[in-house]
Amino acid sequence: MAKISINLKKGNIQKQEDVIIGIDLGTTNSLVAYVPAEGKPARAIKDQEGKNTLVPSIVHFDQTGSIVVGDEAKNKLEINPERTIYSVKRLMGKSYDDVASFQKLLGYRIINEDTEALVKIEVDGKYHTPVTLSAEILKHLKARIENNLGQVVSKAVITVPAYFNDSQRQATRDAGKLAGLDVLRIVNEPTAAALAYGIGLDSSEEKKVVVYDLGGGTFDVSILEIQHGIFDVMSTHGDTFLGGDDFDRAIIEHWMTANNWDTVLLEEDKGFSQSIRLLAEKAKKALSKKDSFSAELKGTQITIRKQDFESMIRPIVERTIESCKKAMKDAGFAPKDIDEVIMVGGSTRVPLVHDMVKAFFEKDLNTSQNPDEVVALGAAVQAAVLAGKQKGVLLLDITPLSLGIETMGGLMDVIISRNSKIPTALARNYTTSIDGQKNLKISVFQGERDLVAHNRKLGEFILQGIPPRPAGIPKIEVQFMLDADGILVVKAKELRSGVEQQITIKSQYGISEAEMAKMLLDSIQNAKSDMEIKALLEAKNEAQNVIVNTDRFVKQHKSWLSEEQISSIVRLLDELKSSTKGEDKDVINQAMTSLNDYATPLAHEAMDKVIQESLSGQDINSTKVD
Ligand code: ADP
Ligand code: MG
Repeated sequence: MAKISINLKKGNIQKQEDVIIGIDLGTTNSLVAYVPAEGKPARAIKDQEGKNTLVPSIVHFDQTGSIVVGDEAKNKLEINPERTIYSVKRLMGKSYDDVASFQKLLGYRIINEDTEALVKIEVDGKYHTPVTLSAEILKHLKARIENNLGQVVSKAVITVPAYFNDSQRQATRDAGKLAGLDVLRIVNEPTAAALAYGIGLDSSEEKKVVVYDLGGGTFDVSILEIQHGIFDVMSTHGDTFLGGDDFDRAIIEHWMTANNWDTVLLEEDKGFSQSIRLLAEKAKKALSKKDSFSAELKGTQITIRKQDFESMIRPIVERTIESCKKAMKDAGFAPKDIDEVIMVGGSTRVPLVHDMVKAFFEKDLNTSQNPDEVVALGAAVQAAVLAGKQKGVLLLDITPLSLGIETMGGLMDVIISRNSKIPTALARNYTTSIDGQKNLKISVFQGERDLVAHNRKLGEFILQGIPPRPAGIPKIEVQFMLDADGILVVKAKELRSGVEQQITIKSQYGISEAEMAKMLLDSIQNAKSDMEIKALLEAKNEAQNVIVNTDRFVKQHKSWLSEEQISSIVRLLDELKSSTKGEDKDVINQAMTSLNDYATPLAHEAMDKVIQESLSGQDINSTKVD
């Protein structure tokens, strides 16, 4: 939309286009980018000095209560750790229980007043949430681009890791809203990286792409399949505690040992630990270009050679290659199937990382785009697509875990299956299991196991006011609507009366990548036993239906059934009832077959009678099976 406005910076009146910005909200660094005009490449915005595009994802609260973000906050990390919040992305959409295990790794305090609620961070007795802290980073980025362009921006595309679940995506969206941004899309980071390389923009193109992302503290690899402009995440793997920080730590350890420095210094001398950390990162970056690095610390000359650095980090890089192997296996691909390997994240500048990834995938890597910026640039490309600056591109993602509801016997009934493209809406019909039933509980689960007990509960609600009818008669449609950001709306509707009820799922509890991987693994490992339990529960459910229907049949047709027929049915019915108390599905199925074999001819006879009676003008309703 074009509008006329006054450019406050330049003081002139101009016609402005609404810009939609792309934001990479990273664990270590964040940045903002945009596409200046149709056909122009995306551009990341630098700080006021025109130097850096990266904003360290760090928020510092100073003594007076004012907030600083970015490089200025990074300087306080060692000196004032309890007021300086970093790695907040790790806490997004998580409960205290989810993150308690890594409190010891953080310099600030996370709060456990309610272990199941979303986590909070305490600074000077004031509570902050990951959402409000992320909003501070987003505000900083928004101000940066507004200053640079001399105009207000209010619309954004923000990226998240492919493995982020619904609540983490929602938390990111909320942070955007708090920062005064209308978040038009949440896009997966690997999808954005591919877009920055122009992959997927031509809808006739079909490609299999690996995105290898090694950042400051996290690693992930995603395998994308791109067809008709649709991006499918075939698999993702990684380690949420592996990254460039580990390289820094290796260098620090090396220097501590080489100079016989006591490790206690790192804890007790904040000035020293700040200096050595900064020097280690500087050394690491230098070694991406040179063969050695030296500096002075505590009056001592400290050095490190590239070859020593490489032998220290080789095992760490090896672990990322293991993840690549797993991701390739999950996707069912071999290196020869892959068309492109895209390198993302500052740590991919380390030559050893580059070489090992190249050797594993047996091909040249895409490194022409700046690895720190590529995700933000891709987000800007997606923003341009939304703004209509790129025609004919459709962007879809997939849902990583199946979504469904609990049905009788605690079975998981999948409505939207894992790897479905989103947005999507699917519905399925259900009914009641008891005569006269007025309420139906809808419990929503996420996961791959056949029993809901093994899956993750997202929420539940009760559909009330179902008109009382015999079991099996009411038709209840349960609809799942999953939008492009992975937000789920579940609606249940009784079709005759129209009564309906719905919930929007913004689940409170986070699910980590590791948990997600475990859920998938469990489902594979337990597939056989799950199948047996499922078969038993299904037999029991079916038997229950047969019992209800047969009871009803006997009641309705008492008038013409012989006493012998009735007592035979009752005997077979009792056998079936007692079989359902046992745990042998074959016995249940056998009892069902016996009852069916006996009752089916009678049911046909009943049908004939209904037809005859209707032909002779009698009221069919009196004998109609409802
Ligand atoms: P994130 O995605 O976690 O926010 P980034 O992609 O910004 O992180 O990566 C940050 C990491 O990249 C840091 O550990 C930083 O030290 C490292 N890094 C940046 N530049 C280089 C370089 N030239 N050589 C090696 N490591 C680098
Ligand atoms: Mg990143």
